[in-house]
Amino acid sequence: DPLKSITILGATGSIGDSTLNLIRQHPQKFKVHALTAHKNVRKLAALAEEFQPEKIVIADETLFQENQALFTRYKGECLSGKEAIKKVAAEGDLIVAAIVGAAGLEPVLEAVRAGKVIALANKEALVCAGDLIMDEVKAYGATLLPVDSEHNAIYQVFDFERSESVSKLTLTASGGPFLTRDLNSFSSITPEEAVAHPNWDMGSKISVDSATMMNKGLELIEAYHLFPIEVDQLDVIIHPQSVIHSTVEYRDGSVLAQLGSPDMKIPISYCLDYPNRIETGAKKLDLAEIVQMTFIKPCYDRFPCLKLAMDALKIGGAAPTVLNAANEVAVEAFLHKKIKFTDISKVVEKCLERSDMKAPQSIANLLEIDEKARITTSSLLTELRMD
Ligand code: NDP
Ligand code: MG
Repeated sequence: DPLKSITILGATGSIGDSTLNLIRQHPQKFKVHALTAHKNVRKLAALAEEFQPEKIVIADETLFQENQALFTRYKGECLSGKEAIKKVAAEGDLIVAAIVGAAGLEPVLEAVRAGKVIALANKEALVCAGDLIMDEVKAYGATLLPVDSEHNAIYQVFDFERSESVSKLTLTASGGPFLTRDLNSFSSITPEEAVAHPNWDMGSKISVDSATMMNKGLELIEAYHLFPIEVDQLDVIIHPQSVIHSTVEYRDGSVLAQLGSPDMKIPISYCLDYPNRIETGAKKLDLAEIVQMTFIKPCYDRFPCLKLAMDALKIGGAAPTVLNAANEVAVEAFLHKKIKFTDISKVVEKCLERSDMKAPQSIANLLEIDEKARITTSSLLTELRMD
């Protein structure tokens, strides 16, 4: 079959949208093998009807049972539950891992253990289990292609044959919607304000992470696992125009960067047809239109989450797993208006203080650490409400 078959885990999300947009543009190159969703059964049904993949999976079993009628015009196989997601994660020529959060970890591991080429958007999987995943990638000969725009940029200009000549990786950050907002008003930030990102159109969790800059912290940890680099060779710079998507500095003083419009179709397309390049329909960069590019050092008073993540990377052991789990619970609570924006970093910090930092020894052990951190965070949320 000349068509590359694609499995999209998290097909109903923002990365899923951009991926399917590219597949629509290139029917002579790609076909859909499987699509998965969590709760958005209506959207999945529409996609199933349009793309007629071999399989679809709804993670939520009850929603699956209640919505059978939606899938009458779909001819393939309907599956449900976590195990079914893990099963399809090991099928297809290329797996797009676009589930949000640690929920994506086990499917990613299945794809890795099947030796697949994986277009990895799900950064939380690498943050919470980077060492274990990378060991398995080596053992099973899998390929991880980074979708995250910064890591994709670095991947495009990183000399893997001469990695000792790389002296520094700098991740660029937009700074999110609150880069210049009065710090005194941070505690009144609403979820609506936090998810309105100035440059990128993304899911709600990553949008809040961008607003706190926890996202950039998670990306530092992600970069540490994806590239042969030491912790002290990783840096962050705020670049509000989002034109330069990250830079690689070599020891001779040369700096290589990848530039482009802030459109996820560009990094996703790079992974979909790697190492070839295809048309994406993304707006081409016009430097004259940009006029100027600015750079600012991040301030930790404004973005304490970035500091917490940098510390977790340095501490190692269970710290990144705990950081990620606590952040997921805190962001969810913020989105449901249960805590203030400024409580996110407080809760994550307290959870780290209360947790054991011993490195996870296995995936089972890691899942326990993750679960324990979620419970600790939930009780911290209760304590906050009683204050
Ligand atoms: P969205 O929230 O838009 O989509 C998340 C997807 O994951 C949806 O398909 C959702 O299903 C599914 N999902 C959520 N929870 C579960 C679960 N427990 N089990 C199975 N599936 C689940 O997120 P994004 O597309 O924005 O982000 C996806 C990942 O890509 C994240 O890790 C993010 O950090 C990363 N990323 C995203 C970027 C972007 O531009 N959006 C940029 C760089 C990285 P449903 O909707 O049906 O409930
Ligand atoms: Mg990114």
